[in-house]
Amino acid sequence: MTRLFNDPTAFADELVEGFVAANRRWVRRVEGGVARRYRTPKGQVAVVIGGGSGHYPAFGGLVGPGLAHGAAMGNLFASPSAQQVYAVSKAAENGGGVFLSYGNYAGDVLNFDSAQQRLNDEGIPCRTVTVTDDISSAPMDQIARRRGIAGDLTVFKVAGAAAEEGADLDEVVRVAALANDRTRSIGVAFSGCTLPGADAPLFEVPEGRMAVGLGIHGEPGISETDVPTADGLAELFVSSLLGELPPGVEDANGQRAAVILNGLGTVKYEELFVVYRSVARLLEEAGVTVVEPEVGELVTSFDMAGASLTILWLDDELERLWSAAADTPAYRKGSIGAAQDEPTDDEADALEDEGDSASEAVPEASPASRAAATVVTALLETLAHEMDEHADELGRIDSVAGDGDHGIGMQRGASAALTAAKDAQQREAGAGTVLARAGDAWSNRAGGTSGALWGLALTTLGTRIGDDSDPAASDIAEAVQAAVDAIRGVGKAEVGDKTMVDAIVPFADRFREELDRGSAPGDALAAAALAATEAAAATSDLMPRMGRARPHAEKSLGSPDPGAHSFALIVTAIAAALPTVAAQPEQGTS
Ligand code: ADP
Ligand code: MG
Repeated sequence: MTRLFNDPTAFADELVEGFVAANRRWVRRVEGGVARRYRTPKGQVAVVIGGGSGHYPAFGGLVGPGLAHGAAMGNLFASPSAQQVYAVSKAAENGGGVFLSYGNYAGDVLNFDSAQQRLNDEGIPCRTVTVTDDISSAPMDQIARRRGIAGDLTVFKVAGAAAEEGADLDEVVRVAALANDRTRSIGVAFSGCTLPGADAPLFEVPEGRMAVGLGIHGEPGISETDVPTADGLAELFVSSLLGELPPGVEDANGQRAAVILNGLGTVKYEELFVVYRSVARLLEEAGVTVVEPEVGELVTSFDMAGASLTILWLDDELERLWSAAADTPAYRKGSIGAAQDEPTDDEADALEDEGDSASEAVPEASPASRAAATVVTALLETLAHEMDEHADELGRIDSVAGDGDHGIGMQRGASAALTAAKDAQQREAGAGTVLARAGDAWSNRAGGTSGALWGLALTTLGTRIGDDSDPAASDIAEAVQAAVDAIRGVGKAEVGDKTMVDAIVPFADRFREELDRGSAPGDALAAAALAATEAAAATSDLMPRMGRARPHAEKSLGSPDPGAHSFALIVTAIAAALPTVAAQPEQGTS
């Protein structure tokens, strides 16, 4: 239960504000998250990490000499947007290129990849290693599909230490990838976490039982047992990890290893120490020499009761990097030497550009397109209202096999899109610009997979529709098709993978068919919305093959895909509102 908050939707922003106020020795606030307060030597690789908020000290708490240069901090449990990652990277970059690292989750991959592309396009070298340490999330032969949990820290630490030593970008990538290859984790949970303002936890574990293999967003575990004793948990942890030694480690006996016993949120340090007592003994019995272990909260999951064990199997190089000094708000070891004392630009300057493209001038638009913009804005209002109404329901559906953030993400994205649309429309923007601004705002604010894809869809619609004329139904059908293609191009999902694509494709197809048959646009939309609703309901019978829900495929059987369901809700609401909205007297046009 989260007891202390103001407006739940402001929670993530307010925590960054307070975090920075409390840690000015290390960090400054920049658009999208935080960066180091002091400038690093020219040419040093900038290690930029990030993810959703709710995992403190990941990610902002790990910024400082010897570790990260910047952290993109998304909303609660939602990946940062591409714009956030890009902005933090630009703030942290100092001539050595950017190294991105984060836990392997679909939404993060989409947003970080898009930021990487943008940096590369601007001539800033940028490369990525995603963290895939959680052995419960996919079998060994699909290791690239595994998600990242507390092993984030070993990979970030090794990369940060290498950058501090002066390694170039290729070298940082090499050692980080090596650390990731040799890091394995397993976690358990005793109870779910409850996000601020929510009235129920994201998931529940029955009293006296323990979910094995949890993800750090409360993704359900892969099996369940009775809660063991502390010694019993240590045995489960150690035997699981000794059971899956990474390539290059034939025998645990004689190895040296970095070990993290991590608390997920509400397990006490004292309990962790009791567990660690046995972890240390079991590893010693297996002939493993533990090097500089960490016992405490390193990668949390809000107020989840749970713990995880991580082992990084060391070689000489990794041991040097793991043991190197670091000085960050939440993680310190050794002595980092004299601080680099040239402060970076004043924070106020860094924050000046924050926000969406709201204040940018809007391009010239025809009166007809401005009239269409009024309709578009009204429909976005319907959309935002529909997401407010259904946020809890969508969160619940997403928590069956995903991370429970779909409702919050859609609500936040839709409301930001509406604000941006209203702003543009008031300044006499055409329909294309209103949609494109709404799309930018959506992906900037929402984060997550759905945020990136909805933002992309609206931006594509806007670019296609333009600001010249009142779009005809056939123009809209073409723009919708372009948006569908863009979503498939970026997300790589096809029909049958159990994603929003399952609802969007039948929607676009039916819309086009109805128009071809000569139906009125409003009727075509209503028929298409019905097709989307049926297709979204039918996703209940599918097993997810993409996205965050995939590791829990069988759990999601019988439950629809959240993104498909929200899409169906939205187009249904829009189809219902269209007759009223289109009949309104035009405002703000001349
Ligand atoms: P996240 O999965 O990052 O937490 P959300 O919960 O907001 O993001 O959205 C989840 C939805 O995103 C899924 O229900 C699915 O419809 C959609 N989705 C996930 N991965 C993809 C993909 N690769 N392509 C298209 N849609 C996807
Ligand atoms: Mg989700």
